[in-house]
Amino acid sequence: MKNEINENYWDCLIVGGGLAGGLLLEALSHFHPEARVLLIEKNGTLGGNHTWCFHESDVMSSDSEWLMRLISKSWPSYEVFFPLYHRKLESEYFAIRSEDFHERLMDTHRNSIRLNQMIKSMDDKKVILENGEIHYASCVIDARGWRENPAGEFGYQKFLGLDVQLKKPHGLTSVRLKDVRVPQTDGYRFIYLLPWSETELLIEDTYYSNTPDLNPEVIKSEILKYLHDQGWEIERIIREEQGSLPLALKIDKNRRSEVLKLGASSGIYQPVTGYTFPQTLERVHALAENSRIDLADWKNILDLYDEKFYQQAKYLCLLNRMLFKASHPSKRYLMLERFYTLPQELIERFYQGKLNLKDRLRLLWGKPPVSVLKAIKALVS
Ligand SMILES: Cc1cc2nc3c(=O)[nH]c(=O)nc-3n(C[C@H](O)[C@H](O)[C@H](O)COP(=O)(O)OP(=O)(O)OC[C@H]3O[C@@H](n4cnc5c(N)ncnc54)[C@H](O)[C@@H]3O)c2cc1C
Repeated sequence: MKNEINENYWDCLIVGGGLAGGLLLEALSHFHPEARVLLIEKNGTLGGNHTWCFHESDVMSSDSEWLMRLISKSWPSYEVFFPLYHRKLESEYFAIRSEDFHERLMDTHRNSIRLNQMIKSMDDKKVILENGEIHYASCVIDARGWRENPAGEFGYQKFLGLDVQLKKPHGLTSVRLKDVRVPQTDGYRFIYLLPWSETELLIEDTYYSNTPDLNPEVIKSEILKYLHDQGWEIERIIREEQGSLPLALKIDKNRRSEVLKLGASSGIYQPVTGYTFPQTLERVHALAENSRIDLADWKNILDLYDEKFYQQAKYLCLLNRMLFKASHPSKRYLMLERFYTLPQELIERFYQGKLNLKDRLRLLWGKPPVSVLKAIKALVS
């Protein structure tokens, strides 16, 4: 029994090898190279099937050292195209492809990762696997991703993306973050383009919709139409990804469970984008750079960040209510068109989910392009 405890005793046990779990593993190996960490993932690979993207301003310079190892590609700028407005923002943009995430983490941390493991139960100090193994730790982290069917009222950011090989170079030099010059069906809609190489692209068709379901065949044909309209001929489709991210119209504080949660499982994300990256990275950094891997310390750190998050989230959910309830689906893009005319620093703080008071007033100031009556209802609902 003693032997079993020694062998199966860890400083940190991470359950879930997606974005949050993988980042924590990498950060702990940087800040606590001597620590015994085990990551348990139910699937055969880490990271699922995602392309995760983020802005330079989402990353603190002190993260660069360990995070950059996981980056698949970066671009020096990005562009947005609206019917009446175009802007190029000189701000670096990064992407992590989940297959790179898997390979790079496995290369360095093979002995700290258990794939294809189902868990039977977990608490704040212990994880029991389906095969009966018991693992103990100073801290257990639940990084199992989105909860199924969360309660509450939501809009959705839903999308389908294809990595495609083109027959000839596309000529793009920066990321096309949003091309809104497409029919505004099913809410605010835009095409998103990441040029991986001269002839390879990720192209995504995204909808800010009232419903979560998407029709892959219809969206694929829309993507093919867009490529055709740009004069780009496809040689082959390399891979496909899709998602439907819930965007809360009201935020409820999660009831604190005894197991510490990180990433989507904590319900902490930027409510307007549905992205977890900035919030997760900030927390991963704070936990990993703490001098001890200690349950009480880590709980205090997460509590502090969560408190700040809920202040921001209340406001961001108000923006969601204006977007999903006060504006007509075909006119939702007008709110975003106006948003992208604002100063770059404000746009960056929006993505980080760190708007200051002046930013918040500025976003609502003037004439937001929504029905005034509906906006008032959205404000008070
Ligand atoms: C296609 C797609 C693209 C996206 N792009 C972005 C983006 O660019 N930026 C961004 O911030 N967000 C993006 N998102 C949102 C994205 O879901 C989250 O930001 C991110 O993946 C959440 O990370 P996570 O680690 O919390 O959850 P996940 O990445 O979902 O990871 C959870 C992991 O836990 C594992 N797991 C679940 N249950 C168990 C269990 N019982 N035992 C062991 N393991 C378990 C799962 O298999 C999975 O590997 C995207 C979503 C999709 C679907």
